[in-house]
Amino acid sequence: MSWFAGLLGPWRGFAVTLRQMFRPKVTTQYPEEKRVKPQRFHGRHVLNRYPDGMEKCIGCELCAGVCPARCIYVRGADNPPEDPVSPGERFGYVYEINMLRCIFCALCVEACPTEAITMTHLFEMSVTSREDAIYTKDELLVEPDGTPRHPQPEGPLVDLDELRRGHGWLRATAPSGRAAYEGIVAWTPSATYGEPPPERGQAGVTDETDGES
Ligand code: SF4
Ligand code: SF4
Repeated sequence: MSWFAGLLGPWRGFAVTLRQMFRPKVTTQYPEEKRVKPQRFHGRHVLNRYPDGMEKCIGCELCAGVCPARCIYVRGADNPPEDPVSPGERFGYVYEINMLRCIFCALCVEACPTEAITMTHLFEMSVTSREDAIYTKDELLVEPDGTPRHPQPEGPLVDLDELRRGHGWLRATAPSGRAAYEGIVAWTPSATYGEPPPERGQAGVTDETDGES
């Protein structure tokens, strides 16, 4: 009967193809169409400001110390008393992230005591030279009104709105993601997005509803 099984084999294969033809398609026409990302998506970093325009970074270097890939370089400096850059004694004078090394683990976000560094929903960061992969403070820090900056803002793939979605991670990192924090805003306001909305419940949240903000 092995000849009979051999005869049946191709028809079984055709049946699989036929079945798939009537199932909903999961592919999208990227980059024209972009999938909604989960609210905890780890994308490109931004350095935030308070709503009054002051920088949140106090140059403490905790993010650099915790980074497992050693890709953050920070140098702090004393705030000029007559024109302070941040509310603390010091501010982040130099701030760089080498994106070629970054593993997007978000430990820097967790370690930051002032919520200065956060991660956005932007992942389109291709570059043609190694130097361009080192993001400087000029590129990471948002404008005083909260508008994000990007090295190639006119690029076909870069959607600045993705850079404004830095609150997804903030909202989700209520300590340990504990359910007790659902509905409670545990984060300071920022110039980019004001007061972040409280974290929603995790149960029943899908990718389709996840990216809503
Ligand atoms: S996301 Fe992780 S690897 Fe990347 S800079 Fe932050 S701590 Fe370092
Ligand atoms: S980003 Fe946060 S952890 Fe890093 S130096 Fe600035 S204040 Fe410190």
